This record gives sequence, C-alpha cells and structure tokens, in this order.
Amino acid sequence: MLFKDLGLSAELLRSVKTKGYEEATPIQQQAIPLILDGRDVLAGAQTGTGKTAGFTLPLLQLLQQTYNENQKRHPRVLVLTPTRELAAQVHESVRDYGQYLPFRSAVIFGGVSINPQKQKLIKGVDIVVATPGRLLDHVQQRSIDLSRVEILVLDEADRMLDMGFIRDIRKILNIVPKQRQTLLFSATFSREIKTLAAEFLKNPVELQATPQNTAAERVSQIAYPVDKDRKTELLSKLIVEENWQQALVFTRTKHSANKLAEKLDKSGISASAIHGNKSQGARTKALADFKAGVVRVLVATDIAARGIDIDKLPHVANFELPNIPEDYVHRIGRTARAGQEGHAISLVCVDELKLLKDIERLLRTDIEKVYFPGYEIDPSIKAEPIRNGGGRSNSGNHGKSRGHSQANAGRARPGGGAGAAKNKSRARASGGNRYAG
Ligand code: AMP
Repeated sequence: MLFKDLGLSAELLRSVKTKGYEEATPIQQQAIPLILDGRDVLAGAQTGTGKTAGFTLPLLQLLQQTYNENQKRHPRVLVLTPTRELAAQVHESVRDYGQYLPFRSAVIFGGVSINPQKQKLIKGVDIVVATPGRLLDHVQQRSIDLSRVEILVLDEADRMLDMGFIRDIRKILNIVPKQRQTLLFSATFSREIKTLAAEFLKNPVELQATPQNTAAERVSQIAYPVDKDRKTELLSKLIVEENWQQALVFTRTKHSANKLAEKLDKSGISASAIHGNKSQGARTKALADFKAGVVRVLVATDIAARGIDIDKLPHVANFELPNIPEDYVHRIGRTARAGQEGHAISLVCVDELKLLKDIERLLRTDIEKVYFPGYEIDPSIKAEPIRNGGGRSNSGNHGKSRGHSQANAGRARPGGGAGAAKNKSRARASGGNRYAG
C-alpha cells in the first residue's frame, strides 16, 4: 500500500516523499489508520519494521488536526524510549517527518547537562521524546508539565522493562492524564508487557509486524564454531577476506567490547566501542564515525546497540552470543532492514553451544555451522558455564588457562569434539566445511 492511500496530510506526504519512501511497510499500513482513528495500539514490532514512522506520522497528523497557533505550547505528545540513542533517533524522525509542520520538539535524556533541556522546554514544545529517568528529573524540578499530554508512546517497551524502568514508567503513566491515547510498541510480549498494557491501555487493537520471535527472513545466518581465544583472529580474518566495509559486532560485556575494539584497531581494522560506560559524547561520536564510514567496525553491547538505526548495515557479528535468546533476534535485526539483504555471523565457542541451541529453539530453525579451516574447535576443551553478565572476556587468555594452545587448534576436524558433533550442520552433512572446496 502506498503512503498516499493512508489518509495522511499533504505536509506529511511531502516529508515521506523527501525521505524517498512510497510504499508503507506492513506495520505502517496497519498502525497509521488505527492511530488516526484515535485507537490505543499494542504493537509487536521490532526495529527495522518501520515502526517509528508508523507512530510518528499519525501522531503528527493528530496534532495538526487540532493545532491552534495562538495557544501557548505545552507537551501534547510524549514518546518514551529505553535508551538515549533511540530517543535521539526517534526525535530525528519527529523532526524529519514534521519538517513541513509548525511543531516544536525536544529530546530529553540523561548523561548530558539538564540545563539546555530546561531552556528548550521553557520556550514551549509540542512533542517530547524522552528516556524515563531524566524525564522524571524534569518532572521533579518542575521544568516539564505533563498534565496536557494527549498521546503517549512507549517505544521498545520490552527493553524498558528489561532495563529496570518499570517503576519509572508506572510513575509517568500515573502523571499523564487518564484521558489520552496510548501506543505501546514492543518486540516481544512478555507477561509483564501484557500486564502493563491491560492496566494502562484502553481497549487496544493488537498488531503484529512480524510473527513473534522469528528472525528476519532476509538475514543469512552462519555460526562458526571456534575456540574462545581465537575469536578475534577469526573475526579479523572474516572482515578482511570477505571485505566487510561496515560491521556491527556484539559482545556480552563492556569489557570485551573495549578489548575487542582495541585489538581490531591495532590490527589495522578501524574500530570503536559503544557501551553504557562511555560518555554520551563518546557514544555519539562512535556512532557518527561508524555511520560515516570513518570507522569500519562498531563493537557494542546489547543495551548500547538497542535501537541504533544504520541504513544498509550489511554485517552483524556476534563475537559472543547473548545470554538471552531474544537478544539474538534483536541483534540480527540490525541488518537486512527495509527490504535489504543482511548477513549475520556468530563466533561460537564450546561454552556457548547451549546458548546456540536455545537460540535455534527460539527461531525454530538450525543455524548453519561452518568450520573455518584452521579454526576448528579443539576437542580437548571442555565447556564451562558462562557467568551471567560477568566481566570475563571471552577473547582473553581464558582458554589458555585450560591448557589450550593455538598450535593444536587446527588439528580438530569438524565433528571432532565437545558438542560440535551434535550440530546438525549443513557443512557437516555435506561432509566437509564450506571453505574446503
Ligand atoms: P524503524 O523500524 O522505525 O527503526 O525503521 C527502520 C528503517 O526503515 C529506518 O531506516 C527507516 O527510515 C526505514 N523506513 C521506514 N519506513 C520505510 C518505508 N516505508 N520504506 C522504506 N524504508 C522505511
């Protein structure tokens, strides 16, 4: 369906055209008419589905319909997001899609000085995009008045709950007027999300952009079984040999993100790390450098990468598998956006085979295993439990402490050992590795 058939105003159609879009994505086709109709919406949609425009366009139109230029400005729309990056991105969309409309907006998040945000709010805004914590700081300091909010959007609600924002969200939901329109977007629907929706949404229409918990179909997925202490080497090899120009690489911990970025950078592959311990300035710069192609590899933790929107991102690599299978889906969702092809690889050491199995169970599919020549796993290494969110670096010398040496790494053949034998690999089934012939 084309945007022009969705009942949007001329100003909004013009901004959509400026962005170069004609055809609305499935979530946009479903959500836009319902939101314009004033309905509460509970939408299952992850990043990459076009959800941001799916709520931004109709809410701008609703504001437009009742706009009175003589009235003092006050926040009429509030969008809550889990991270600063996502807040900045949603705000960018609000500005892009609203460029031919008279509305003013502000983005509010922590980690930066509160005063410029106050200045902006004092001048009067119609739309506020915020992370929950800093928004509540403003409420407490009376620099924002939420008493006339008409539309509330909870974006990536599941992630907000994962990040422990539930109390803040409840507080905010109790501050904004009861008489309002509420839109809740979430990649997954846990019991908590459903409880929240039942409590705060009025007779919501439920939408599902993609069947729940299925990986983006256009992403090709490969798992490389490899020993922990050879991951960096193999990743560098893949980047160079397959000539990846832009890759988002995930680690489980901030420590491994830093360490990996440093090692790649030293080996001549420009890289930077992005995670919660970095200052907002450093995160913004890393993201901008990556988007501009100045830096080839961005190494990120799950939370830092959440919501990052990079057009045409061709490669996603899981340097370490996530502890939570759903996070794998979020990670690979960074590639293959809006009709493009994507490539996701995972470096899987023996400790992570169980995580891989859990992911496959969630996806209801086997991920192709490819044994990279010379990097086959050493069958003498036994799996060790992965400490939850622990500071252990999987790229460190951990493997060596268990007597593993690089010299014998090439010795093990596919299927030789610890767990690998269980993998229903296409590579195995065809009797060798993908690179053998
Ligand atoms: P989102 O899921 O909102 O993060 O959007 C994912 C990406 O798709 C962003 O880069 C959007 O700019 C882009 N996008 C949104 N709507 C469309 C559309 N109708 N056609 C093509 N790309 C779109």
